[in-house]
Amino acid sequence: EATRHLRVRAAPLGSRFILLLAEDHTEARRLDEVRRDFIANISHELKTPIGAIGLLSEALDTAADDPERVKRFASRLSTESQRLTRMTAEIIDLSRLQAADALHQPELVRLDRVIAAAVDQNRVPAEATGVGLSLKGGKNIEVYGDEAMLVVAVHNLISNAIHYSPTGAHVGVGVRAVDDVVEIAVTDQGVGIAEEDRDRVFERFFRVDQARSRHTGGTGLGLSIVKHTVQNHGGEVKVWSQLGRGSTFTIRLPRATTPPEDLSTGTARS
Ligand code: ADP
Repeated sequence: EATRHLRVRAAPLGSRFILLLAEDHTEARRLDEVRRDFIANISHELKTPIGAIGLLSEALDTAADDPERVKRFASRLSTESQRLTRMTAEIIDLSRLQAADALHQPELVRLDRVIAAAVDQNRVPAEATGVGLSLKGGKNIEVYGDEAMLVVAVHNLISNAIHYSPTGAHVGVGVRAVDDVVEIAVTDQGVGIAEEDRDRVFERFFRVDQARSRHTGGTGLGLSIVKHTVQNHGGEVKVWSQLGRGSTFTIRLPRATTPPEDLSTGTARS
């Protein structure tokens, strides 16, 4: 919650009067700070892949006689440019989300569709990593919001769960409604997150193990996108974790209750 910053300004008006102006700077100031930090972070983070691409292309130039080295440098160039592409796309997503406090035109979204899409997008990476992926619940649960944005948020959680799990581990995605709240939980049996890092993982560009995450292509923006999407939907995201045991990320959203006529006529959407 932003605290209120009320600024009172005095301006002389002729010789006898003073004009007092009260301005509410809360929102403007908060957005300004967010924007400033964000740009500082971006410039810093973009320097790494851009610098690497520069160095690698120079190295490539001097390695022309050695096909093995050319191959190696070319492959690293491709990795760095993919990372740069992903980072740019995520930065754009995140700046859009941060610019809006709430959704402009929320629509009725079926959660089973959201979850199915997010799970489907992760089938190949799960198979490649040897991680089992299962899905439970979600039928007849709806929320108001933006379907594509919700798919991205759930996708990011599942993708992380797979990414930070060893071969043979299992990732479970569960959806349930408790009264007027919907819960989407993504549980893994992966590396876990230390207590001191648990709040920080939602910060932009934060990675628990910088070296390892950089190596595995992370950008540190995924969870920040999740947090902002969920906040724009009037919900919250929490993490429970035990180091070396695994983590559960839970998204809670206000439930859109099914119109009563749908229930009474037996045409409730499934
Ligand atoms: P990244 O692109 O690095 O995965 P995220 O914002 O998605 O960025 O996550 C931030 C950091 O939080 C990750 O670098 C990782 O250290 C940690 N993290 C996220 N999800 C998990 C998870 N399921 N298990 C363990 N650590 C995680």
